[in-house]
Amino acid sequence: MKPTHLISFFILLFYFNLTYSQEKMPKSTNIFQIEGTTVYGQSIDKQTRCVHWHSALDVIAIKFKCCDKYYPCFSCHQEEAKHDHEVWSKTEFDQKAILCGVCGHELSIKEYMVSSNTCPNCEASFNPGCSNHFHLYFET
Ligand SMILES: [Zn+2]
Ligand SMILES: [Zn+2]
Ligand SMILES: [Zn+2]
Repeated sequence: MKPTHLISFFILLFYFNLTYSQEKMPKSTNIFQIEGTTVYGQSIDKQTRCVHWHSALDVIAIKFKCCDKYYPCFSCHQEEAKHDHEVWSKTEFDQKAILCGVCGHELSIKEYMVSSNTCPNCEASFNPGCSNHFHLYFET
């Protein structure tokens, strides 16, 4: 075999492996990392927008108390985690459980509640509508 043939053979092998491993990826796991923090669920971009919530302002992920994992939204957790969700109790509001998808900064629940829907680190705007769903994540 000529060396050039050998090279094309390896390139072919490489692409074959690539497509193969992509097919093996389960559809529901769209895990990615922001600044070292892992986000689970059905994210559709690197700012934690997901198949359920993806307006310009939907850039936060929430850490669930039950599994200690960040998900873009409540539905993402329901579809992927095979357990009932738990909410953070009032005594735990100093825990970091909100992730800014724009800069990767983690906010405590307390910080998030007084943030006026703006990231204290990068000043990205958060969806003010999220506060309608506080009861899904936090004790109210
Ligand atoms: Zn969970
Ligand atoms: Zn979602
Ligand atoms: Zn930020």
